[in-house]
Amino acid sequence: MHTVFSDGRVWPTIRVEEAWREGLDVIAITDHIEYRPFRQDVVGDHNRSYEIAKPLADKLGIVLIKGSEITRAMPPGHSNALFLKDCNALDTKNYMDAFNEAKKQGAFIFWNHPSWWNQQPDTTLWFKEHAELLKNGMMHGIEVVNGGDYCELSHKWSIEKNLTLLGTSDVHNPIGMDYDLANGERRPMTLVFAKERTEAAIYDALMNRRTAIYFQNKLIGNDSYLKPIADASIRVERVERNGRRVSVTLYNNSSVPLTLTKVKGNDPNLAFFREIEIKPHSFINFNINETMETKADRFALKLEVSNFWVAPNKALPYILDVVESQRLSQQ
Ligand SMILES: [Zn+2]
Repeated sequence: MHTVFSDGRVWPTIRVEEAWREGLDVIAITDHIEYRPFRQDVVGDHNRSYEIAKPLADKLGIVLIKGSEITRAMPPGHSNALFLKDCNALDTKNYMDAFNEAKKQGAFIFWNHPSWWNQQPDTTLWFKEHAELLKNGMMHGIEVVNGGDYCELSHKWSIEKNLTLLGTSDVHNPIGMDYDLANGERRPMTLVFAKERTEAAIYDALMNRRTAIYFQNKLIGNDSYLKPIADASIRVERVERNGRRVSVTLYNNSSVPLTLTKVKGNDPNLAFFREIEIKPHSFINFNINETMETKADRFALKLEVSNFWVAPNKALPYILDVVESQRLSQQ
């Protein structure tokens, strides 16, 4: 996120308060090192936005990560360095000196908006400079989502090159100017699977690729993370047979809508929906109609959670296990 200490339009404490109102746990302000249009009006100290925001973050219980955006021409373009100790040390003439310094400070570094039209006007390219950064331990992650944009190629690279997936708002305006919060719209977020709510645990998770992305009611990430989320979210609440018709009630125990889509390979004797959406914390009913009555009390429906993306153009496969004796659970 940006503040007036680079090209953002808000004071640093506002970023903390916005995050608190949206229920975020962890944020990072990463003002541009090299681009500060308000340099006449604010001090040229790259640590300052963090220092101003930190007391309020502590008071509101938000983990504020210190960072900067290394803002260079393509290649290598822009990168965020998080967990910095002194952002001023990244203010160097050559970009490699800035990356070396970030590495020396133990930063988690990720490539920002690789497909940004301003720097990659026609096609999104992986330059030899990026290969060099990766090889030298100066690229740990990549933005797959930036603001309103999902980059399929970044998603592919994150898998091929073993990079941490990041989804960021990169917000410059007051958050409510870019997102319709009152109507439930939310900024993109990185879900960090940290073992504790501490900077050290968050650092460990980021360095070890334990993230997924929440973006426009979709989750993007490795199936080893999205599968347990789907399992914990989808509950079969009730199953009742009436002749050839089996009616099923599902519950979505999550804050994300779930789109369940039928895939190939289902029992041809069973007719059921092509696609259903279960709203967050809501129930839905559907029927399974048997062409020939079997009196079976268990069905394994082959589906996918089509708003959970485990790779470009690949949704999470999901077997819905419907057991007739199931009744309202105590959960
Ligand atoms: Zn940028």
